Amino acid sequence: MLEIDCSKGEGGGQMVRTSVAMAAITGTKTRLFKIRENRPTKGLSKQHCAAVKAVTKMTGATVQGNSPGSRELTITPGDGMDYDVHVDIRSAGSISLVLQAMILAGIKHDRTHTMTVSGGTNVLWAPPIDFYPQLLFPLMGRMGIDARMEILERGFFPEGGGKVRVTVEPVGRIKPLNLDTLGPLKSVGGVCFVKNLPDRVPEQIIAGAKEVLDPVHRSEIALERSSKGRSKGAGLSLVATYGNGMLGANSLSMHRDPPKNAGRDAGRDLLREMESGATLDVNTADQLLPYMAMADGVSSFTAPRISRHLLSQMDTLETFLDVRFGVERRDGIYHFTVTPGECG
Ligand code: ATP
Repeated sequence: MLEIDCSKGEGGGQMVRTSVAMAAITGTKTRLFKIRENRPTKGLSKQHCAAVKAVTKMTGATVQGNSPGSRELTITPGDGMDYDVHVDIRSAGSISLVLQAMILAGIKHDRTHTMTVSGGTNVLWAPPIDFYPQLLFPLMGRMGIDARMEILERGFFPEGGGKVRVTVEPVGRIKPLNLDTLGPLKSVGGVCFVKNLPDRVPEQIIAGAKEVLDPVHRSEIALERSSKGRSKGAGLSLVATYGNGMLGANSLSMHRDPPKNAGRDAGRDLLREMESGATLDVNTADQLLPYMAMADGVSSFTAPRISRHLLSQMDTLETFLDVRFGVERRDGIYHFTVTPGECG
């Protein structure tokens, strides 16, 4: 049985999600211990438990220790496949993070499968749900992973109540992704989402972003309003689209902070990414890495820095797969290569 000390490296929920999904799809019985040992709230949260449960449903695996607060988990792979999985995180826990584990766990499914997840769509310290349709799915599409998303309802902290449906077509071979250069800039834009807040909030968010972005490149920002359910919130998810790739940035409008600041912050972050000369931001890089590690060729990209999430993700993937990661610092950015076993 594989044993993984989850207090090492970044030591957070990402190690749990990636390990559980990789254990299920590689057929490796795995024990995780010291889960989130160095976090103020140790052990599994509802979001992590929802992700683990979803992976077991999708793959027929069985699990021991999957309850909030648990610091140990044993996953025994199975061979069932559920093609229509519904998950309720029962909090504003991030739907995007639960999907990280679910989409990976479904990579061997041989029929179209759907995943319906309820929880938070736009919460702190997690990718906005919008990153899937805007950025992750287009890039995964180039790797032969055909996925679509419907955002049925937005959900914000603390009530949650958001709902999302994802459909993934069967994935045959995963193609390598080569992002050595971005190519010409095509467009800058995104979506400003708002729920149960006055119109001046999104207007100011958009104005803040445009104030920063438009002098450099004219931006198109769509406004998406919703009012069903109790939660309220607003934010911005931006993407710069190039001939050969895309870069993203995002923000949430915080209570008592002028909404314009959320717009300016996301706008400035996007410009910083665009000026970095890198082809992926670090967050997108750690999320695409598992697919690159299973591709049938060598992938490559550049990132402006190396995050602890990225390092931990490499470590976890090396534990389950025959894969080599190469990193070299040149011209102020980090050049990555991902070489799966048979391609080395
Ligand atoms: P923990 O509570 O232990 O930190 P967690 O389950 O909340 O765990 P992490 O392990 O920290 O999650 O992983 C967060 C994931 O979300 C990473 O993949 C990271 O790249 C991504 N992420 C975090 N913030 C953003 C953001 N603003 N935009 C895009 N991606 C983000």
